[in-house]
Amino acid sequence: MNKQDVFAIDKAHYMPVFARYPMVISHGEGAYVTDTDGNRYLDFFAGIAVNALGHAHPNLVKAVAEQAAKVIHCSNLYYTEVQAQLIEKLASLSGLDKVFLANSGAEANEGALKLARKYGKTIADDKYEIITANHCFHGRTLMTLTATAQPKYQAGYEPLPQGFTYIDYNDIAALEAAISDKTCAVVLEPIQGEGGVNVPNDDYLQKVRALCDKHGALLIFDEVQTGIGRTGKMFAYEHFGVKPDIVTLAKGLAGGVPIGAFLATDKVASAFHPGDHGSTFGGNPLACAASKAVLDTILEDKLLDNVNEVGAYLMDAIRSLGEKYPTIIRSVRGKGFMVGIELTREGREIVQACLDAKLIINCTAGNVLRLVPSLTIGKQQVDEMITILDAVLAKQ
Ligand SMILES: *Cc1c(COP(=O)(O)O)cnc(C)c1O
Repeated sequence: MNKQDVFAIDKAHYMPVFARYPMVISHGEGAYVTDTDGNRYLDFFAGIAVNALGHAHPNLVKAVAEQAAKVIHCSNLYYTEVQAQLIEKLASLSGLDKVFLANSGAEANEGALKLARKYGKTIADDKYEIITANHCFHGRTLMTLTATAQPKYQAGYEPLPQGFTYIDYNDIAALEAAISDKTCAVVLEPIQGEGGVNVPNDDYLQKVRALCDKHGALLIFDEVQTGIGRTGKMFAYEHFGVKPDIVTLAKGLAGGVPIGAFLATDKVASAFHPGDHGSTFGGNPLACAASKAVLDTILEDKLLDNVNEVGAYLMDAIRSLGEKYPTIIRSVRGKGFMVGIELTREGREIVQACLDAKLIINCTAGNVLRLVPSLTIGKQQVDEMITILDAVLAKQ
């Protein structure tokens, strides 16, 4: 099948929701992916912050292959050892007690919101309001796109579920004005991803925690993008010294095998009873084996140290580009391997120019270039990336 055939079939038969780049991916290895024309790209996007171990990592390949040969799926009507091992690990890493396993970020958030509503009802019938932040992203189900305070994701899907209030991110006065005893949960990304890699002030999340406690509202951190080492800590909330009542995970959690998870304290999770929530695929042995391999590899190979060390190097290099191209780069922000480069213009053309030069990056929120490489990349790949980006910026 040639490339043009793939494009034609996609146009004929895939729902027209994606604006794809005209390339067909064939395979990957480490920080590189190769297309069917044989072009090899340096990957600083990792499938939207998903391929935590890079492509074809031997530990992940082995875990998936071995589990697939044993049992891929058996439903949640039975126990598996691998699921028990994964949830024990997630609980011990997070300090939260109970885990539910789903298949995506949206599903993790959907479940977390359902749990928050159930928990709110144990306190008062009218404790159901949910507060989220402008420019957030929580997913594409009806409930999570309603939580996503961005009109472009909601338009055309009305009527939306009720009980949502939106505030400005990183504005504690706005939360103080919006929160009440009717609030069952405040949902925030510790660093906003899709919204443009927005890092809050050091004390913002602590103040949010205090307001939630004052009103008996749950604090939910959506760590679908920031979790599992992306920012140099296993969970981004560790940077801010704040513990949530519920945390949601997905993207990097199984290195590319579909998975989602929400974790909660015993107290909150006790609002769920048998039959209150469920999933056919969620937590199946294949996804659990993949996730366990990702977590074990992050810990055994000390990948958090790598993210911190190489992340600081990456940030320095990007800041230098910022000084070199002050008319193009407005600001640089992020933590670890989650870096945003805010431009003075739209970023689409720069992403395309990088792609032409065999570098995969992304642009989010219109004018923020986003770098979210796998946790395994080294300084050599950073140097290689900077050389390409520098050359692209020089031609702008
Ligand atoms: C990607 C993302 C989601 C949605 O995840 P899906 O797997 O696409 O449903 C939710 N929240 C955040 C913060 C994300 O980055």
